[in-house]
Amino acid sequence: MRASTYPLIDAGEAAAFVLEHTPVLSVERLALAECAGRALAEDLVADAPLPAFPSSAVDGFAVRAADAGRTLRVVGESAAGRPFDGAIPPGAAARILTGGALPDGADCVVMVEDVQLAEDQVTVPPSLRPGANYHKVGDDVRAGDRILTAGTQLGAAEIGIAAATGLAQLPVRRRPRVALMSTGDELVEVGKRLGRGQIPDSNRWALLAALREAGAEVHVLGIAPDEPEPLRRLVVDALEDADALVTSGGVSVGTHDLVKPLLESLGTVHIGRVKLKPGKPFTFATIGIHAPLPDPLPWGERERKVAFGLPGFPVSSLVTFEVFVRPALRKMQGFAQVQRPTLPVRLAYEAKPTADRTEYQRVTLRREGRELVAETTGSQSSSRLMSLAGAHALVRVPAGEQGLKAGSIVEAMILGLP
Ligand code: AMP
Ligand code: MG
Repeated sequence: MRASTYPLIDAGEAAAFVLEHTPVLSVERLALAECAGRALAEDLVADAPLPAFPSSAVDGFAVRAADAGRTLRVVGESAAGRPFDGAIPPGAAARILTGGALPDGADCVVMVEDVQLAEDQVTVPPSLRPGANYHKVGDDVRAGDRILTAGTQLGAAEIGIAAATGLAQLPVRRRPRVALMSTGDELVEVGKRLGRGQIPDSNRWALLAALREAGAEVHVLGIAPDEPEPLRRLVVDALEDADALVTSGGVSVGTHDLVKPLLESLGTVHIGRVKLKPGKPFTFATIGIHAPLPDPLPWGERERKVAFGLPGFPVSSLVTFEVFVRPALRKMQGFAQVQRPTLPVRLAYEAKPTADRTEYQRVTLRREGRELVAETTGSQSSSRLMSLAGAHALVRVPAGEQGLKAGSIVEAMILGLP
């Protein structure tokens, strides 16, 4: 064992550094069917009003308000997609259906419930208001309105409004292609028989799920042995068409921990240890622009790539994913909101601190009256995945002596509400 030469970096500073050094990916135009969940890459400005023509909000009769109280001749019909041809003269009405264009000459719509109908004549109520019961041009969106801003996550309503304004494609940023690799001679494919001292490669599946939730396209590299050459070959090949590398294991200071030296040989390791619990050996490197680079560059002159060496312990790998990797992947995709949302929660337990490291404790939440109350998930050991399974939030406990008192209210990072 050798002592790590990497300085211990404050967890918040490390997170800010990672974000700052993560590139934003290029823009592609996608058909609406492919846009759900993506971040819009440019502001969308309406080039025409919505609705584009005055359209009836009800079934009834299009009339002139000045004809209130009179019996009017019904001269035709305007249905959705089948407008009335011509204008309504004074003393006349046109039957109109919801979504039908308001005929010229008419300035209001009377609901069918409010008229008396006899053959081709209709008697309208004694008082009518111009503008009643139809949607005016530009009521929803005016030409030139900014309807969506860059960085917005495209959901059903956002895609709907884009379609309503006539856009069949939207500019979005590429999803990051992430190469995912587990390291460790003790690892065995899940489902295979375990020999003595072996464990299933569970991080691969946990991280695959986390990466996909964060919007990544994942290339699973499988298990790399704790040997420098095969590990290097796997990584160099994978980086050829990946934007990011995520590894688990092999970053602590044991003699078999090879990820840091490998990343040193491919780029620059900026962060090798953080004041974070769990996740102290978290490693961040950039590859592709900061020398020293392998010569010639195996993947050619392209965008910078980022590499995340996550610790092997299952909770450490997922917590460091949350703190460092997920925000970075969202930045790559151009999301305005890269962090998980936070909410104030009342602690139902005393959160004991770690003297020299920020700690992210896992909690479940329940509602009590108007408050969310946070309960610990039990032992916070970095190997105990049960501390994270079913957790609703992470509570950040600052380093120091104080901790967080039971009953205090803190902002918690929400993973998923109950
Ligand atoms: P390491 O960071 O390589 O020293 O790994 C620390 C510990 O994390 C190992 O001793 C394993 O118990 C566990 N571990 C490492 N990789 C994995 C994995 N892919 N899946 C599950 N547990 C792992
Ligand atoms: Mg290992």
